[in-house]
Amino acid sequence: MTIDLNDFDSSKVVASDRKHVWHHITQHKPFEQNDPMVIVEGKGMRVRDARGNEYLDAVSGGVWTVNVGYGRESIADAVRDQLVKMNYFAQSAGNVPAAFFAEKLIEKMPGMSRVYYSNSGSEANEKAFKIVRQIAQKKYGGKKYKILFRERDYHGTTITALSATGQFERKNQYGPFTPGFVEFPHCCEYRSQFGDVSDYGVRAALEMEKVILAEGPETVGAVCLEPITAGGGVITPPHGYWEKIQEICRKYDILLHIDEVVCGLGRTGTWFGYQHYGIKPDIVTMAKGVASGYAAISCTVTTEEVFEAFKDDASDRMGYFRDISTFGGCTAGPAAALANMQIIEEENLLENVTQMGEYLLGRLRQLQDRYEVIGDVRGKGLFCGLELVKDRQTREPVDESLPIAIAADCMKQGVIIGRTNRSFEQFNNTLCLSPALIATQADLDEIVEALDNAFARLAPNS
Ligand code: PMP
Repeated sequence: MTIDLNDFDSSKVVASDRKHVWHHITQHKPFEQNDPMVIVEGKGMRVRDARGNEYLDAVSGGVWTVNVGYGRESIADAVRDQLVKMNYFAQSAGNVPAAFFAEKLIEKMPGMSRVYYSNSGSEANEKAFKIVRQIAQKKYGGKKYKILFRERDYHGTTITALSATGQFERKNQYGPFTPGFVEFPHCCEYRSQFGDVSDYGVRAALEMEKVILAEGPETVGAVCLEPITAGGGVITPPHGYWEKIQEICRKYDILLHIDEVVCGLGRTGTWFGYQHYGIKPDIVTMAKGVASGYAAISCTVTTEEVFEAFKDDASDRMGYFRDISTFGGCTAGPAAALANMQIIEEENLLENVTQMGEYLLGRLRQLQDRYEVIGDVRGKGLFCGLELVKDRQTREPVDESLPIAIAADCMKQGVIIGRTNRSFEQFNNTLCLSPALIATQADLDEIVEALDNAFARLAPNS
C-alpha cells in the first residue's frame, strides 16, 4: 500500500499512532481510553490535529523549538533545493550550507570562532563534555576532568547529559551515571535557599565557588549552565549572578560552557541568552531554534583558543578531536538554519521578541494581581513562567494537578500552553509560555485570555 501523506484517513492515523508509536515523555495508560493527539498541519502559530481541532500554540511545538513559526516555505525550499543537489557527506569533508551557516552564526557571537555540527541538544552537550575531557588530558595530565552543573538545569537525555542534569525526577531512574559531574545549588530568587535576598545573585554564585573549593579547583575543568533555566522552572538569574560566575571561572581557570539549546536564536530578544549578561563563554551549545525544527541540527561552538588546543602535529594520533556525528554531515540542517536566520533578520524578530516579551510579562503580572495562586511571574523575551503556590506567604507549591488542569482547560479553549518539569520540592508548579518569535499582541491577548478563564474556573481567590 502506498501512503499519501497529503491525502489520508484521519482516524487511521490516530489508530496507527495509538497502536505503534511510543510518544516522548508520555504516560500511555490514558490512551487506552482517549485518543492520542496527532498534529497534522501548522501555519504561523496555529496547528491542527487529526480530529480537525485548531490550536494557538503558545509553546513553539511543545518544547520551545519552532521559533519562526510553522509553514515557512522559504525554509522548505532551501532544504529541498539543497537535498537534490547534495544531501550528505561526512568523514572529514565540509559542505556548502555548513560553511556559510557557520560564518553567519559566528558573526552573531563575538568572541566565538568554530562550529561543530551534530543533531540534537544532548549530542551538542556531549561534544562539549568530550572537548573538556580531552583538554583535561592534553593540558592537565587528566586532572581537570570534573564538570559542574546546576540544580534544576537540564542538559539532555543521554546518560552523560543526564549525569550533568539537575532534575532528579528526570534522571534518577536511569542511574548509575557518568562519574565526574558535580551539582551546585540553583539560583532561583523566589525559592531563595541562602537567607534573605539582598545581593542574592552574588551569594548564589558563591555557592558554586564553594563546590569548586570542596572538589579542588585543580580537578574542575568546566561548568555547564543554561543562561535561563528552562524546563527546570523558567528561572531567570538574579542580578549580579552571571558576573560573579564568570569571575569565579576565570579565577580557577575553568571553562564556561553555556547551554543555549532553549534560549538560542532569539528566544529572549538577543541572538543568545548569555548576551544579556555580558558573559564571555568558552563553549556554547544550541539546537532547537537553530532551524526551528525544520531539520535536525545542533552546534557546539567554541572559541579559537579551545579549538587551538586540538591542533597538533600529524604524528599525534590522539591529539585531534576524534569525534564524529554521522548526521552532522547532513546538509538539510545548515540549509534550514541559514533560511531560519534570514527570517529572523528580515522580519526583525529580535525586536519583536523584546517588545512582545515586555507586553506578555506585563499582562501576566496583571493576572498575578488578580489570582493569589500565581506566586511568581518571571521570564525574558518570549519565554515566561508562572509559578503557582498554595499560599503567597509560605510559597508552598500547589499540587501538580492544578497546572495540569490549567493546561488542559487552555487546551479545551484552543490554546496550547506548557508545564515545566517538576520544579521545586517535587512539585510541578510552573506553567510556561514560549510562543514563536512572530507573536503579535493579539496572539498574546488570546493566550492570556485562555489563562484568565482557566484560573477563574480552577483557582478563583478564596
Ligand atoms: N539542553 C536544554 C537546555 C534543553 O532544554 C534540552 C531539551 N529540552 C536539551 C539540552 C536536550 O536537547 P535534545 O532534546 O535536542 O537532545
